[in-house]
Amino acid sequence: MILKLNDETRQRLWQQLIETIERYAADVEQLNVAPELKREEIRALLASFDFTQPLDAVEALRFATEGLLKYQVHTPHPRYFGLFNPAPATMGIAADTLVAAFNPQLAAWSHSPLANEIERHLIRAFGERFGYDPAMTDGTFCSGGAEANQTALISAIVDRFPQFDEEGLRGLKAQPVFYISAQGHHSFLKAARFCGLGTNAVRWITTDAGDKMDVASLEAQIRKDRTDGCAPFMVVATAGTTSSGVIDDLEQLARLAANESLWFHVDAAWGGAAALIPELRPILAGIEHADSITFDAHKWLSVPMGAGIYLTRHDNILDRACRITTDYMPHDAAGMGVIDPYTHSLQWSRRFIGLKVFLSLAVAGWKGYEILIKEQTALGNLLRQQLAIHEWKVVNDTPLPIVCFLDGKSPAGSSATHLDAIAGEVVKSGKAWISTTRLNNKMPVLRACLTNYKTQAEDILALIAALDEAREGVNAAEQRH
Ligand SMILES: *Cc1c(COP(=O)(O)O)cnc(C)c1O
Repeated sequence: MILKLNDETRQRLWQQLIETIERYAADVEQLNVAPELKREEIRALLASFDFTQPLDAVEALRFATEGLLKYQVHTPHPRYFGLFNPAPATMGIAADTLVAAFNPQLAAWSHSPLANEIERHLIRAFGERFGYDPAMTDGTFCSGGAEANQTALISAIVDRFPQFDEEGLRGLKAQPVFYISAQGHHSFLKAARFCGLGTNAVRWITTDAGDKMDVASLEAQIRKDRTDGCAPFMVVATAGTTSSGVIDDLEQLARLAANESLWFHVDAAWGGAAALIPELRPILAGIEHADSITFDAHKWLSVPMGAGIYLTRHDNILDRACRITTDYMPHDAAGMGVIDPYTHSLQWSRRFIGLKVFLSLAVAGWKGYEILIKEQTALGNLLRQQLAIHEWKVVNDTPLPIVCFLDGKSPAGSSATHLDAIAGEVVKSGKAWISTTRLNNKMPVLRACLTNYKTQAEDILALIAALDEAREGVNAAEQRH
């Protein structure tokens, strides 16, 4: 049994695996956060794998472990101040391991009744947190936010253009267009391509001084599009922009979408976690009016990737978007009042994504997450305070722990080259990971985001020290030129 391996090898393999996982979680902070990017070195390592000589199982596992230790950004590191990639929660790791071993198939309900019911239960629980009526909440687990956003797009199209189902875009008289803030997520460009709309269908609406979608510009663009013979069908609000954590005015956009008969989608991939915190919940006011919501459990809820969630308060829309029947799939669902996930999702064969969310939430509880997210929010405030003391200038305004800032001390402190050089130095030092982005699509900034449950006050101070050191190095280099 070549794939099963013998008992003795399996024992050694599992033991090695568990030790590796334990050691990584315990020691990750001793590693450089980011690797050097050595493409040729990695390719040379792989060149010896021509798959003619079978490798010992434990040896193969060791190869993968050593490679990953050396050649990846360690997003579980407490000083990874990055792009919403969290340290995976222990229960999430356990769940994903169990899922790999049991391999439940989530295409058909009857193949995995417990898994399906767990996901249904979670969809309703999260819907309720966002203010939906749980009995009406439908949705599906996805690979991530990008798939959830694409599911939103296809839902909106199918809902607003019934002839699209059979005739596609050729059945429509007018070009469909939809609206998103210029700081919204670019997965919508891909979604527009994949749905056949083309990227011209995406109307990027300018943002106001606070980086929120400018509602007057949105209204003007909708009027213009209607005059030009286009067919507006959806508004996407962002609850927590990727660059700076800004939340669009959801109440106002919900009202406008309703008046204009547009599908209202809220992309809350990261920021949606604010719904779990009573003090932060008001910043999401209006999300309950959304026709659909994107939320990523693999961001602030710290489950391993990928765990996207698509939620909708229309309990038949996924059915209209995804329904098919086949002879070869099981048909038991029909008489049982249950749903086969392959008729409610872009995916067909599907991994049991929900278990890592279920077990993490069951063990931490809503309360556990609330405490954690509050701590991270407080650390965000500490970072802002420390940056100001050390003459860095915070330029974004959000209650969420994303901080965008400039160098308030150096003459070139707001130039893109200078800020890129500082981020580069910090990353190269291995002490922390931060990045740069642009606000309002023009102003270059440094960006540090806290998503990691292991990050502590001392890590914030270490980041400040790394930034100060990088600034000195960069200033010295600039003066030499
Ligand atoms: C991360 C993110 C996405 C994309 O989600 P993935 O899980 O990476 O596919 C979409 N929108 C927003 C606002 C995000 O932060």
